[in-house]
Amino acid sequence: MKEDIRGLLPEELEERLVVMGEPAFRAKQVFQWLYKDIESFRDMRNIPKALICKLEDTFFISGLSLKAHQKSRIDSTEKFLFELRDGNQIESVLMGYKYGNTVCISSQAGCRMGCKFCASGLLGLSRNLTPGEILGQVTEVSRISGRKISNVVIMGTGEPLDNYQNISKFLRLIHEPKGMNMSMRSITISTCGLIDKLKCLAEDFPQVNVAISLHAPTDEKRSQIMPINKKFPVSQLIGECRRYVEKTGRRISFEYTLLKDFNDGNEDMQTLAKLLRGLNCHVNLIPLNQVDETGLLTSGRKRALECMEILSSKGINATVRRQLGADIDGACGQLRLKQSVE
Ligand code: SF4
Repeated sequence: MKEDIRGLLPEELEERLVVMGEPAFRAKQVFQWLYKDIESFRDMRNIPKALICKLEDTFFISGLSLKAHQKSRIDSTEKFLFELRDGNQIESVLMGYKYGNTVCISSQAGCRMGCKFCASGLLGLSRNLTPGEILGQVTEVSRISGRKISNVVIMGTGEPLDNYQNISKFLRLIHEPKGMNMSMRSITISTCGLIDKLKCLAEDFPQVNVAISLHAPTDEKRSQIMPINKKFPVSQLIGECRRYVEKTGRRISFEYTLLKDFNDGNEDMQTLAKLLRGLNCHVNLIPLNQVDETGLLTSGRKRALECMEILSSKGINATVRRQLGADIDGACGQLRLKQSVE
């Protein structure tokens, strides 16, 4: 079976090429081409034809083929639906900000965490994405859009820390100086709170930004919408976040999706402020991107701003997330879900 060449670190590629009877310096040349705008091995201009043939027999460059591409008419958001070699489909979203372009990528095909407000969870987990498939989303989105990527958020389909080993390798690949050379500080991992893996992340990649999907301030409410809370309750999760901030010296973010008449009351905000008191953190309030299949209602932007005021008055740093690409199936998992039911 052919191997995904973009999933290999420089030393791994060198090992493979040496076994194929090639000099080690060829691996460096091939590796550098992988991060340029190429579609096939034949685009690698300084590589001898004989080696190109060997590469074609042993590897493939991209395991992703574009199935759908939507461009917003109201902002610069672009959404991509990719098909993997086994037929699974994943989504990536490109968003333009003042400071550069951010791509939001998926870490799994589907997700087994079952959060009630999320379109991705509705179809369950199909499988983990490989390091090459995770990285491939960044390189393909950049190649297809023609836009340079400055930041990556792993906030699309899947729970990244449920695929820790492959995410770790992806981080090493994207940080590789001979490749994309992206700073760890330009990468954000969003997690629903797998505490055991959060500990590993603080040890292995202390520079990476972390965003916790919190969405409710009490066990009673959080367990209703996020089954993971039964395993790792709120107090344990926040305790781990405090240790994380202490260990890494980094600020931590909390994602809080506002659901009408469920977690958007004044009392909810006061409980949230109390829970996070003294923690170096930022709360991202998200007006729900309504997904018909979940039956949940959005609180709306006006209520989100009121919630922000309450948190700010209690000394909690909070903002309301700007809705990008509102005209193009904005919520994660929506495009994929659409394709699977059509
Ligand atoms: S919100 Fe994240 S963790 Fe929860 S089901 Fe959706 S993709 Fe999975």
